[in-house]
Amino acid sequence: MLDIKEIHVDNVFSKTSFQGYSYVINPYTGCSSGCLYCHACFMQQFTNHTGETWGEFIDVKRWDGIVRTKRTVKDRNILMSTVTDPYNPIEKEYKNTRFILEKLHEIGCNLTVCTRSDLVLRDIDILKDMKAKVSMSINTLDEDFVKNTEKTTPIAKRLEALKKLHDEGIYTILCVSPIFPYITDFEEIVEKARDFTDEY
Ligand code: SF4
Repeated sequence: MLDIKEIHVDNVFSKTSFQGYSYVINPYTGCSSGCLYCHACFMQQFTNHTGETWGEFIDVKRWDGIVRTKRTVKDRNILMSTVTDPYNPIEKEYKNTRFILEKLHEIGCNLTVCTRSDLVLRDIDILKDMKAKVSMSINTLDEDFVKNTEKTTPIAKRLEALKKLHDEGIYTILCVSPIFPYITDFEEIVEKARDFTDEY
């Protein structure tokens, strides 16, 4: 059972040392995609969720849209997201990522969106207008492996989404991550997506 809370936040921008980016945005704390290998569970200790199970709670970060960072975010490179999936299953109902995209569009910035979900297709209109880049994570073509380790979009649908984004003129990135030794066949993945991927 997923424990969902809506919390008010003054700021959605976090400074980052990710190469090439000034800020990251995580519209949610926690992630209902619940990947068994998730790297982001360390966030529990910083967010009053110690003792809970990663993948079984999620906070929807409600932001009023006012930019309070000292340095402007206009024209900066911004990455969304690093410790959640902005299109995790509850985004369909809560539309928090959509709200943030609308605000970022007004401000003007260079956005890269990272996801494992085909729900990103819902926002093609605004992503196109913003000239955003979209990165789709795929680390195996084995659908059974995915079913057993993630509550995310099947691989075939992720590939279809990447193709659709590419056909719409959106810059596409395929992120092969994490790599499982002896399971992830990156050559096979690269080959499968070659016609509609701008960057790996
Ligand atoms: S989609 Fe990303 S953040 Fe969400 S559970 Fe999976 S690895 Fe973690």
